[in-house]
Amino acid sequence: SKGEGKNRYTFFSQEMNKTADEKMQLSNELYRALERDEFVLNYQPQTDISGTKIIGMEALIRWNHPEKGLLPPLDFIPLAEDIGLINDIGKWVLYKACKDNKDLQDRGGPCIRVAVNLSVKQFSGSSLVDMVKETLYQSELKPEYLELEITESIAMGDFTDVQQVLKNLRELGITLSIDDFGTEYSSLSRLRHLPVDRIKIDKQFIQGISKSTHDESITSFIIALSKSMGLKVIAEGVESNSQISFLTEKSCDEIQGFYFYKPMEFEKLLDVFEVKA
Ligand code: C2E
Ligand code: CA
Ligand code: CA
Ligand code: CA
Repeated sequence: SKGEGKNRYTFFSQEMNKTADEKMQLSNELYRALERDEFVLNYQPQTDISGTKIIGMEALIRWNHPEKGLLPPLDFIPLAEDIGLINDIGKWVLYKACKDNKDLQDRGGPCIRVAVNLSVKQFSGSSLVDMVKETLYQSELKPEYLELEITESIAMGDFTDVQQVLKNLRELGITLSIDDFGTEYSSLSRLRHLPVDRIKIDKQFIQGISKSTHDESITSFIIALSKSMGLKVIAEGVESNSQISFLTEKSCDEIQGFYFYKPMEFEKLLDVFEVKA
């Protein structure tokens, strides 16, 4: 279609802006970033609808690049996926997130879940379940305090395979959520059979609240759908009072967004919980 053609054009022109040299250099730096310990995790609290109770947090990676400064994930995660580094990075993220959460508990902080993003590439190998199991063991975090976030396209991928992996993951005692819900293709009949616990409404819909009846309808629909399937529902990208009012009225369970908390370093999180560093 015309729409696809336009997207493709945008994609190519952005890619071509980066010369092959630049890309090669960034790849080389990315290979060394792990051993040089240049990645950091930020944590964004997730709360109940009133914002008073923190019930979870999402781990979000940044790259502390020696010259370029702090880089957001979209500047290097797609590249890491392309050059086959995402499994190593993903493993680092998982361990660090579990270890930090265990640390938080050991210092007398609350027992809450930490949510970790998974790339589709981490799903293709058969070792994901073992890797998660091993990481829980090494970090000594109880599985109930780990959640993995998968996108709709992962969840809706090759059905029997994915469903089995998700089941095996859940049997470890962790929870699963579907991220960016509503932005990709979804089969509602499949959704019914997926072993997941939580749906995350994508921020593009939340940011349309009070601006677009279309986005409001989709948000209401996703909340109602989640509830009817016995799933928890969390709204992402919540920035305003009017969004909170709307979500409260629709009985959304949980909130994640700048309105209550921005992503922060672990040390800052300890401050939030008034835990000594
Ligand atoms: P995501 O999983 O959808 O993460 C939520 C993004 O929304 C984060 O961006 C977060 O900072 C941002 N956000 C949260 N609240 C608000 C808000 O109220 N307003 C706005 N405008 N934005 C908000 P971030 O940290 O730049 O991450 C971007 C994406 O990078 C993530 O999207 C996720 O897909 C990916 N990512 C982040 N960390 C990891 C990781 O460890 N592994 C993998 N594979 N992907 C990651
Ligand atoms: Ca996420
Ligand atoms: Ca998301
Ligand atoms: Ca997203």
